[in-house]
Amino acid sequence: MLDFSDIKGKRVLITGSTAGMGAASAREFVKLGAKVGVNSHVTDAAATELVAELNALGQESGGEAIFIEANLMESSQCEKLVAEFVQHFGGIDVLVNNGGGLGGRSGLEAIDDAFYDRVMDLNCRSKLMVTRFAIPYLRASAAERGKTASVISTGSIAAREGGGIGAGVYAAAKAWVHDIHRNWVKEFTKDGIRFNIVAPGTIDTAFHADKSDELKEKIAGTIAMGRFGTIEEVAPAFVFLASDISGYITGQVLDVNGGQMCP
Ligand code: NAD
Repeated sequence: MLDFSDIKGKRVLITGSTAGMGAASAREFVKLGAKVGVNSHVTDAAATELVAELNALGQESGGEAIFIEANLMESSQCEKLVAEFVQHFGGIDVLVNNGGGLGGRSGLEAIDDAFYDRVMDLNCRSKLMVTRFAIPYLRASAAERGKTASVISTGSIAAREGGGIGAGVYAAAKAWVHDIHRNWVKEFTKDGIRFNIVAPGTIDTAFHADKSDELKEKIAGTIAMGRFGTIEEVAPAFVFLASDISGYITGQVLDVNGGQMCP
């Protein structure tokens, strides 16, 4: 029988997680008894309410959650995020680099340095720097447990197909994330750290708030399953890749896209 009991007690830091797929994953981890760090760049009602919900959800399983405010677009804040998580929980067993976003749309001829920096900092600097500061703790976790530690980053279908018009830098940033994981597999497998990507297709979150109902229907028509995915349908992919159950899987991209693209 499949056994996810190793998740109980694991220290799981999830970036960009007060809404959307990050929040849905936090719920699953806490239900399985994990100690979860929830993060956003703002301390708002969503953050406070989610942490209260998670701590209630974790009462049976022993799961718990804290919130750490940090703007992932700044390296110093990425360092602070890791430091505060470790100060509270004493280490890191699983890092979910979920924070990211479109950062706006722009055709090539209108792109300026500010736009480029925003999209790249939000999607690339964030994952690079949080991972960089988390590595010593992930390495220690693997050594202590005698099992692999796990890094999972949220990529995108856009990384595979180039993204919509105006989202080229975003798509390329996600391709950068997919590829740097392949490099990290080479550098850190000896330390017992695994790196995998969850690549969502079109998932019903605030990410698509700028789209009309008509456009959403048109996009749904391009998906084999004929609809957007839900955040609850993506969360299990993170749990699977965090668990020792997936201990021989590293350097892979797990597409969760309802058949929108079959690479
Ligand atoms: P969302 O917009 O629902 O939630 C994003 C979360 O990140 C929120 O908690 C927000 O507060 C936080 N956040 C935003 N900027 C931040 C910053 N600078 N520092 C720290 N936290 C910040 O997002 P979602 O749609 O669930 O997307 C999650 C991830 O999935 C992103 O990396 C996104 O690029 C990727 N993705 C989304 C889709 C989709 O269809 N929704 C598809 C492919 C990939």
